[in-house]
Amino acid sequence: MHEVYLDYNGSAPLDPRVVETMIPALQSGIGNASSVHRFGQRQAAAVDDARERVAALVEASPSGVVFCAGATEANNLALIGLAEGAPAERNRIVISAVEHASVREPAQWLHEQGKAKVDVVGVTQGGFVELDELDSLLGPDVLAVSVMAANSETGVLNPLDEVAERTASVGAVFHCDATQMLGRLPLSLGDVGIDLLSMSGHKICGPGGVGALVATRHSLARLRPVIHGGGHERGLRSGSLNVVGIGGLGMAAELVAEERDAESARVRALRDRLLNGLRAELAGVHENGDPTQRLPNTASVRFEGADAEAVVFNMDPVAVSTGSACSSGAIEPSHVLLAMGLSRDEAFESVRFSLGRFTTEAEIDAAIRQAVKAVDYVRAMTGSDD
Ligand code: PMP
Repeated sequence: MHEVYLDYNGSAPLDPRVVETMIPALQSGIGNASSVHRFGQRQAAAVDDARERVAALVEASPSGVVFCAGATEANNLALIGLAEGAPAERNRIVISAVEHASVREPAQWLHEQGKAKVDVVGVTQGGFVELDELDSLLGPDVLAVSVMAANSETGVLNPLDEVAERTASVGAVFHCDATQMLGRLPLSLGDVGIDLLSMSGHKICGPGGVGALVATRHSLARLRPVIHGGGHERGLRSGSLNVVGIGGLGMAAELVAEERDAESARVRALRDRLLNGLRAELAGVHENGDPTQRLPNTASVRFEGADAEAVVFNMDPVAVSTGSACSSGAIEPSHVLLAMGLSRDEAFESVRFSLGRFTTEAEIDAAIRQAVKAVDYVRAMTGSDD
């Protein structure tokens, strides 16, 4: 059986057209983009070009794009950078319970260091941030609200307009980790009212290790750097620029802007084919998260009575993932699924399928067959074939 890759939310494959633009840059890109000589200036022009493409993807100003090493760094810069620049009377950050570790951990760190107080707002059973609870947590001491656009495990889309409106009403900054949404659905910084947006190259068929924090002018001024040095990227992210990676990110962003809508419709049909196939062949198949407001490429599926780690292992060479994480030597269930009200056992039965640009119908059919085999096998081995 051929390998099938259905873990696009983990990391999407590089588009060959992105590779094509990166190879000449690797081969002949000479000079530091900060240098005044013609070699440096050519590099700077390549960075400027990418800055425009990235800004265009989210309808932002190019001057608000801060290139960095990916969404983890962008999230750290957003939260820590805001806290470092905050007036004393604004010392509280509100994050949602289903944020990625790269939001939760810097928030926790700020809390432990006494640099900010952190409140966590819960989510509904469908996976949406609880707006009433958010209301109760907001006040004039709130510095920032961090709510992701689309969840990486379930694909559930948050009500960003409502979050933005509430955040603005107390004068706080709205940070949105849009890492998973960007390649798949349109998102405009200004239309929604997002102040700071994180994104990553390898989730949009671009290179890994490169991403950006995209800021409005007003919120850019409220940030302080986390990485100090030569003052690159308006003093917010020092370090000679990764010109090849940034160029690849720019190309990936442009391809998304051009192809996203058609691609999403195609991928949505494949994802639905997958779900229908699984439901037709297996009993006890449940979807996690609201099925209407979610990314077109993602399905979080619970196979009753089948341990997800075992299912994933037995699905090889079809690559899918579980949301559970290994922490201090023990496997922990997904914090996202627990926050949505699933029990530990239910969370441990959940498998994430995430599709993308290069997924084919034949691959989906192969994945259905392999999943059915794996789930039947795991249920039989553990005596649970209900
Ligand atoms: N945020 C979200 C929602 C993600 O899914 C990921 C990647 N799993 C990240 C942040 C981190 O991105 P990066 O790998 O670029 O650091």
